[in-house]
Parts: sequence; C-alpha cells; structure tokens
Amino acid sequence: MTIEICIIGAGPAGLMAAIFAAEAGAQTTVIEANTSPGRKLLLTGAGRCNLTHQAAPRQLVRAFGAKGRFLSYALYQFPPENVRNFFTGLGLRTKLEKDGCVFPVTDCAGDVRDTLVNRARKLGVTFLYGKHVDGITKETDVFVVCAAKERIDADKLIIATGGLSWPKTGCTGDGYRFARQFGHAIVEPRASLVPLVTREIWPRQLAGTAVENIKISTRLNNNKINTTGAIVFTDDGIGGPAILDMSRYLTDYLQAVGTPVVVNLDLLPHFEQAALETQMTERISENPKKKMTNVMAEFVPKRLSAVLCGLAGCSNELEAGRLRKDVRKKLIQMLKTLPLSIMRTRPIAEATVTRGGVSVNEMESKTMESKICPGLFFAGEVLDVDGPCGGYNLQACWSTGALAGSSSARVGCA
Ligand SMILES: Cc1cc2nc3c(=O)[nH]c(=O)nc-3n(C[C@H](O)[C@H](O)[C@H](O)COP(=O)(O)OP(=O)(O)OC[C@H]3O[C@@H](n4cnc5c(N)ncnc54)[C@H](O)[C@@H]3O)c2cc1C
Repeated sequence: MTIEICIIGAGPAGLMAAIFAAEAGAQTTVIEANTSPGRKLLLTGAGRCNLTHQAAPRQLVRAFGAKGRFLSYALYQFPPENVRNFFTGLGLRTKLEKDGCVFPVTDCAGDVRDTLVNRARKLGVTFLYGKHVDGITKETDVFVVCAAKERIDADKLIIATGGLSWPKTGCTGDGYRFARQFGHAIVEPRASLVPLVTREIWPRQLAGTAVENIKISTRLNNNKINTTGAIVFTDDGIGGPAILDMSRYLTDYLQAVGTPVVVNLDLLPHFEQAALETQMTERISENPKKKMTNVMAEFVPKRLSAVLCGLAGCSNELEAGRLRKDVRKKLIQMLKTLPLSIMRTRPIAEATVTRGGVSVNEMESKTMESKICPGLFFAGEVLDVDGPCGGYNLQACWSTGALAGSSSARVGCA
C-alpha cells in the first residue's frame, strides 16, 4: 500500500520532510502558498545560508534550552554531520567557518534551496505552488486539504508552515490555526533573535555602526545571562548577533514583567579593567596633545568614541593631556560597563525566528506526530522550539523535517 502524504509549506522543514517521505516510498505532495519554494530560506545568512552549526548533538540540545529535551531525538537522528553529508551527497559541498557556522561553499542560499527541490523532484514529489491552504478537515482516516479550489486527499498530513516572522515570505501563522482546529495548544508567539529598543536615544547617533567582539550581560530572575559577538546600533536601539541572542531571554521577561531591563555592554571583554586603565594612562601620557576622541578611537570605532566622550562630558576638541582624572575613570568605566535600558523588542514581523508556537507537550518527540490527532505531523518553526543565532534554527528544521517525513511514511505509524 502506498501512503499518500500532504505537506503544507515548502520551506526548509517542508522540503526536507518531502525528501525523507518520498525516499521512504510515500507518494508526496507539497502545497506552497508562494509561487516559488523557500522564500525565507533565500534570505538566510544574508543570502549565504548558515545551514547548521558544527557541534556535538549534546551541545545542540543544550542550545535549545528547555525545548532541547523534546528536540533531542530528532537532533541525534539527523545531526549537523549528517546534514553536511546529505548536502555533499547531493553535490553541494559545505564549509565550516571559525565560529562553528556552516555555509555552502558557494555562499549562496539559492543553491541550498535548489539542491532540496531538485532532489525532491527526482524522487517524484509533486509541488503545487501559488496554492494557499485555507482549510483542512479529517474525514475518517483521510485528511482533506483545500487550497485555492483544489482538494487534496492524504493519509498523513505534515504542517510545516513556519512561524510569524517576516510575513512577506508567506508566514502568517496559518499553522497555528490548523493546529488549534485539531485540539493543539499554542504557546503565545513572541519575537526572538530580534533587535532591541532602548530608552536611551544616543544609539540613534550611531545607527549603522557595528562593534565586534562585545560581551553583553544582564541578570534576569537572579540568573546571570551573557552573550558575545558583534552588535550594530540602530535607529531606536541595538541589533547584531550578540543582541539577537540576548533577545531570546529578554523577550519572555519583557512580555511577562513589562519593566525595562538593563543590559551592560563590555566593549573590550579581552581587557581586564586594571590593564585597560594602565594602557589608557600610557597612551594619554605619550600623546598629551592628541584629541581624546582619537585616543578612545584606538579602542573602539571612531563614531562610538565621539559619542562616549560626549556622554562622559568631554568635548570632542579636548586634548588628552587636559583630561580630568574623574572623566578618564568614567570613560574607562563606560568601555567596560556601558548600560542600556531595554524597553521592548522590535515587532515579531522583524524577528529572525518566532519563539512559541505549537506546544511540544502534545507531540511525540520520536516521530513528530500529534498525540491528539493520529496521522498529523509538525516540523520546523511552527513548533514551539527556537535556538540561538548560528545555524541552530535551520538545523532544527532539517532534523524535525527529516523525522516527520520518514516517520509519516511508515505504514505502522498512526
Ligand atoms: C532574515 C532571516 C535570516 C535567517 N538566517 C538564518 C540562518 O542563517 N540560519 C538559520 O539557522 N536560521 C536562519 N533564519 C531562520 C530560518 O530561516 C527559519 O527558522 C526557517 O526558515 C523556518 O523554516 P520552516 O520550513 O519551518 O518555515 P518557513 O521557512 O517559514 O516556510 C514555511 C512555508 O510555508 C508556507 N505557508 C504558510 N502558510 C501556508 C498556507 N496556509 N498554505 C500554503 N503554504 C503556506 C509559507 O509560504 C512558507 O514558504 C533566518 C530567518 C530570517 C527571517
């Protein structure tokens, strides 16, 4: 008996599910609202597609926090090493960058998308593009999927419709509606990996300025949280990888508590405060006629140095040798502990991923099948799982997609 599987959504999770389902012998149809597949996938990694993170499955599980336990089986079944071998086997080699991020050697997200679609087509997967699924019903053991006057009957259904971020790519939260209809709880979707809005307005003067290798720290409910990496100042606050990672923690707190959170930026984490004081004092005494902003610019980008001098009450024209001791102390303090009050996150439409979604409590972690509705599966960002920056979120899509695809194709399943 051939199992007929219908997959809603041709993003990374849906495409991977289609390949694994078809490889297992199922007759597979993918329905996509857009006129082409993987629209969000094309944007990933700024068009280069950071497709996974080179880490042992144990570390990956930890990176997903409380939801890691649920993802564990899927991640161990199809870990980063297998993902890289999978793409290499299909002719797309990958490369490992210093920070553990993995990209296609071509640095082109389109190649990742095309590799998946070509493989699926070769396996006989049917793609229906430009068909927005409006309704699903289950009649006895058959799922009836209605999309733009088309009716598709299937034995199994995989929902891979993504979350709520970047709605222009086709993600409008339909998967949550479908899940609710079958009795599933939805954990409220929130913005994650998203820029933050600050109470201070001075970051606006620096919009577009990036600073590498920053350490950001805060305390939430007595837990110390640190993230590291680059930041970018924006029109109303800060973004960049280290801030996006911090936003994963702040989004829940800001929503629940509603009061601003102070985060501290250590602009020079590789300098101990005492060593920095010595260096600064030496540079000032060696160059007493140099403008203080230029001395500071030896430590941080020039635009930031001017803003910090202004905040410390030191004019742009001031010569280093004339700097008061208390202002020097203030500047050093700012380089090591620059506080910013975070008021809120930018909206979910601007978030890299959605935190929240279809509750994993009602999902079988070894198959991705619903515990409530036999034959119904979920994969990818529609689920209440989210990881940090660095390829973790696509890895979750590949792993849950592969598992949903292969398990839905098993006759015994459901
Ligand atoms: C700018 C940006 C950069 C990113 N970069 C990275 C990165 O480098 N590395 C990383 O790991 N992650 C990255 N991410 C996150 C990653 O792209 C997502 O987690 C991933 O795309 C989710 O895949 P998915 O298949 O679950 O959903 P999606 O990619 O969102 O695909 C869902 C598909 O379902 C379709 N759909 C929805 N509703 C319906 C319906 N009713 N009928 C028919 N079709 C429907 C949509 O049109 C869409 O094509 C990035 C995200 C963004 C926004």
